[in-house]
Amino acid sequence: MALAGVSLGSNMGDRQAQLKEAAAQMEVAGLRILKYSMIHETNPVGFTSANMFFNQCILAATPHSPLDILEILMRIEQKAGRLRSKGVLSDRPLDLDLLFYDDKIINTERLTLPHPRMHEREFVLRPLQEIYPHWQHPVLGLGIADMLSKSFFTKQM
Ligand code: ADP
Ligand code: MG
Repeated sequence: MALAGVSLGSNMGDRQAQLKEAAAQMEVAGLRILKYSMIHETNPVGFTSANMFFNQCILAATPHSPLDILEILMRIEQKAGRLRSKGVLSDRPLDLDLLFYDDKIINTERLTLPHPRMHEREFVLRPLQEIYPHWQHPVLGLGIADMLSKSFFTKQM
């Protein structure tokens, strides 16, 4: 069994229902959810939209490989009606990102672990902090509070 962190987001339609349904489908697919963060309402990052996001993080125990989990998540996104336009960020009924898988470091075209932008996304770090405050980024060697600190965000820019 491995420990996987997943970020859930929605800014279209019934956002709460979509997050709930996504978690239910992850369970059916073999991700046993150990912890749910609260749902956070956040502004879109990286694109402009009037529709705010609902964001949540979950921790799951799973026998699946990282690539299998990515496929499961993308299948659930597609069922929710996610249309993907390459490289263009836009409104989405459901966005599921694999944040980490134990301490695995992966850098392939299909999958990067930990998720390549999670350390600079407050909408990921805040909910993750609730459910896994002691998580450490295996590449950066930083804790969540370090990544959330102002100085870290400024250094990024
Ligand atoms: P974002 O989640 O940044 O808004 P997308 O969901 O559109 O962007 O991007 C998903 C793409 O990123 C997929 O094609 C997937 O192969 C790739 N990807 C790489 N690493 C990950 C990861 N850790 N979790 C989810 N998708 C990833
Ligand atoms: Mg995504």
